[in-house]
Amino acid sequence: MLRVHSYESMGTFDGPGLRLVVFLQGCNFRCLYCANPDTIEAGEGKPTDPAEILRIAVDQKPFYGKRGGVTFSGGEPTFQAAELVPLVRALKEAGIHVCIDSNGGVWNPAVEELLGLVDLVLLDVKQADPERHRALTGRENTQTLRTAAWLEAHGKPFWLRYVLVPGYSDAEADIRTLGERLGGYKSVERVELLPYHTLGVHKYEAMGLEYKLRHVRENTPEELDRAAALLREYFPTVIVN
Ligand code: SF4
Repeated sequence: MLRVHSYESMGTFDGPGLRLVVFLQGCNFRCLYCANPDTIEAGEGKPTDPAEILRIAVDQKPFYGKRGGVTFSGGEPTFQAAELVPLVRALKEAGIHVCIDSNGGVWNPAVEELLGLVDLVLLDVKQADPERHRALTGRENTQTLRTAAWLEAHGKPFWLRYVLVPGYSDAEADIRTLGERLGGYKSVERVELLPYHTLGVHKYEAMGLEYKLRHVRENTPEELDRAAALLREYFPTVIVN
């Protein structure tokens, strides 16, 4: 059984084309700006037979077109890698393009197998600097950077996703550290620069949790342009999403 938080049909944000996005429950990080705090606790979510997800995905196949498919997001989908592997294999056999949206922080043989199977990884690097990563997510980034290196070594295409959080990941040094670390990677097909937003704040209120970035404002267009220009010094394709 896979623990599912929710589904989104015809998603356009998580990977190429139109996609069924399956949000899985459970996450190893505790990002201060997490927009889906209700996906973090591993024991929650709806236990779901992978065959049911396969059925939904195949039913929606006519909508995917040439580029679309299924994306597993979360939460952190690699939390349930062992259960995902046979499902991803079945989706691939059904001719469906599969993406995984991951923070790259979980590693075990099942995760390795899973990343080998999917067509594309959306790798969320929250911060390239170890200390600032810990401040932002409560966890180390060592494994995330190792996962990026694994993807590069195995020629697995990935999109690097980076949320520009004012005061936490938007300094010039933050972006240069990321560029110096991953800029030479040929497997990075694009960088998606994601503006910081506060759309999830109401969930914190509903859950009785404190939103610790209440003092942080959203990015200005100039700040996004400046960060995108810096990233373009290291990566050929940078998209502000
Ligand atoms: S990795 Fe994603 S789901 Fe997990 S805490 Fe961070 S933003 Fe939330």
